[in-house]
Amino acid sequence: MEKKGRVFSGARPTGKQHLGNYLGAINNYVALQNDYDCVYAVVDIHALTTMETTKDLKANTLDMVLDWLAAGIDPAKSIVFVQSHVPQINELHVILSMVTMLGKLTDLPTFKEKVRQQPQNVNYGLVGYPVLMAADIVLYKTNLVPVGVDQAPHIEFTREIVRSFNYRYNTDVLIEPQMKVTEFPKVLGIDGQQKMGKSLDNHIEMAATPEETQKRVMMMVTDPQRKRRSDPGNPDVCNVYSLHKTFSSPDEVKMVNQECRTAGIGCVDCKKLLAKNINSHFVPFREKRAELAQKPERIWEILEDGADRARVIAAETIREVRDAIGMP
Ligand code: ADP
Repeated sequence: MEKKGRVFSGARPTGKQHLGNYLGAINNYVALQNDYDCVYAVVDIHALTTMETTKDLKANTLDMVLDWLAAGIDPAKSIVFVQSHVPQINELHVILSMVTMLGKLTDLPTFKEKVRQQPQNVNYGLVGYPVLMAADIVLYKTNLVPVGVDQAPHIEFTREIVRSFNYRYNTDVLIEPQMKVTEFPKVLGIDGQQKMGKSLDNHIEMAATPEETQKRVMMMVTDPQRKRRSDPGNPDVCNVYSLHKTFSSPDEVKMVNQECRTAGIGCVDCKKLLAKNINSHFVPFREKRAELAQKPERIWEILEDGADRARVIAAETIREVRDAIGMP
C-alpha cells in the first residue's frame, strides 16, 4: 500500500515510560505505523546534554525500547534505532547550525527552563539541542512528528531552520515537518498541576506493578476545593477524572462524573476504580513486556537492524544536502 509519508519521533533514553509518554506520544507512534513509514529513535546524544551520569544509558535504552515494542511498535514495519548509531546526524547537525541564529536558541522557553533546572551545567550541547532535534527530523525526510505539546516550540524551530536552509542555498531538499499531537497533548502528573514527567517524580509508569500503580494513583491530587467526603466535587478540574476518560468504560465515566458532583462517590473509591482500570488496561502490555525482557539480545538486534535501515535514508539526505550547498 502506498504510504502517506514519513513519520519521525525520538525520545531521550529515560528508561521506563510513563502515562504522559504513552498518552502523549507512544499511542500515536503505534497508530501511525499503518499509514506512514515510521522511524523511531532513542536519542542518546540528546541525553548527554542533561545527564549527570551515563552509567544507566544502556539499561534505560533497553527499558524504553521494551516499552515501545510491548505497546505495539512493530520493528517489521517501523525503523527503531539508536540515534548515535547513524553518524550522519552529527554532520547534519553542524551544517544546520550554520543557518541557526544563536539569539533565537537562547530565547527559546525550553532552553530557559533547562538553564533554571541545571544552572551549573549550561553546556554548549544544551543550546544546540533544538538544532540536533531539527537534524534528526530532516535527516529522515520527515513529514509528520508525533510528540507531546511541550515539543511545539522545537517543531516550529525546525520549520524555521528548514526555511533558512532552503532559502540560503536556494533549494527545496529539506522538508518542513508538521507536528501531530494526540487527544492528550499534555498529561498532568499526580500533583494535578505540572506536566507528568520523570524529573518531577509525579509520574506513573506503564510497566509498574499493579500495587505500585495503585499506590501512585492513591497519591493523585483531586479537585482542591473538595475538602471533605461530603463536599461535592468538580470532575472538570480533576486529573483523576481526566484519566478515567481514557481508562474507564463510558458507563463508569458517566457514573464518576455524576456521583462526584453529588458527593455520591468519594475520591478514595474513585481512585481505586481508576487504578483497577489502569491495571486491567496494561495487562496485555505488561505480559508482552515481560516476555520481551527475557531476550534482551533480541532487542539489540532489532536496534542494529533499525540503524542499518536508517543509515540508508540518512546517507541519501546527506548526499542531497552536500550537493545543495555545493560542497566539493
Ligand atoms: P524527551 O525529553 O526526549 O522528549 P520525554 O520523556 O520528556 O523525552 O518525552 C518523550 C515524548 O513523550 C515526547 O514526545 C513528549 O512530548 C511526550 N511527553 C512526555 N511527557 C508528556 C506529558 N506529560 N504529556 C504529553 N506528552 C508527554
